[in-house]
Amino acid sequence: MQWQIGDVKVTKLVELETTGGSRFILPDATPEAVRPISWLFPHFADANGRLRMSIHALLVEAPGRRIIVDTCLGNDKKGRRIATWNERQGRFLDDLASAGFPRETIDTVLCTHLHVDHVGWNTMLVDGQWVPTFSKARYLFGRVEFEHWREQTERTDMLPVFADSVQPIFERGLADLVEWDHQICSEIRLTPTTGHTPGHASVLISSRGQHAMITGDFAHHPCQMAHPEWSSTADYNAAAAEATRRRVLGSLAGEPVLMIGTHFAGPTAGRVVREGNAFRLLV
Ligand SMILES: [Zn+2]
Repeated sequence: MQWQIGDVKVTKLVELETTGGSRFILPDATPEAVRPISWLFPHFADANGRLRMSIHALLVEAPGRRIIVDTCLGNDKKGRRIATWNERQGRFLDDLASAGFPRETIDTVLCTHLHVDHVGWNTMLVDGQWVPTFSKARYLFGRVEFEHWREQTERTDMLPVFADSVQPIFERGLADLVEWDHQICSEIRLTPTTGHTPGHASVLISSRGQHAMITGDFAHHPCQMAHPEWSSTADYNAAAAEATRRRVLGSLAGEPVLMIGTHFAGPTAGRVVREGNAFRLLV
């Protein structure tokens, strides 16, 4: 699946899609609460009101640049709270190469935040060691985000995600700690969308008068457009996360901006429009 924004092309590469089983992340999104949101069907929920979700990377090609935004779960990882996220043996790297993105051709890795499903393929296991998967890339981590997780790690002993997927990049000198309005190239920059995590950033793309935004996790599922007050259990600060959803969705509503969801299944992208006191995604 691909989108063209002026000179920039965005390609979705799926690692994992699920239907149901998302109650742990969005407890308010019960089947009874989801069913009345008719526009979620069939792309974003099944007939029983169970949510469809996706873990995917977004490959962003700008003139002279190849950027991967968020690196999913990874293979061989241990100590994950969700059983099926442990010791995965998925085909992600093969799929990436087949899609025209061999890992050594990526020049920039960008993590919207440092949660488990956004940093996994930063590293891969080689001879018992976690080594950078994208060995020719600079890895961009938000400075605020990185410092938050490093501090947590120092306080709680090594958190496995930070230890196996972030720290090895930093130790090998491949990490750049950036501000959350960092300009990556003339077409692409970050914008702060705090709340889900302390240093969460989203990605803005502008080229030849066309515009797109990659959400990261300020919204996990389009149902949060109909209900911006539905917080994720993974939100660090639920009130700030809701305020960010209302602010960003309000600024996108009715504008010619393609919103590309980091966990949105199926068509994944669309335009934001107002509906009553909330929003919907036009796909
Ligand atoms: Zn996520």
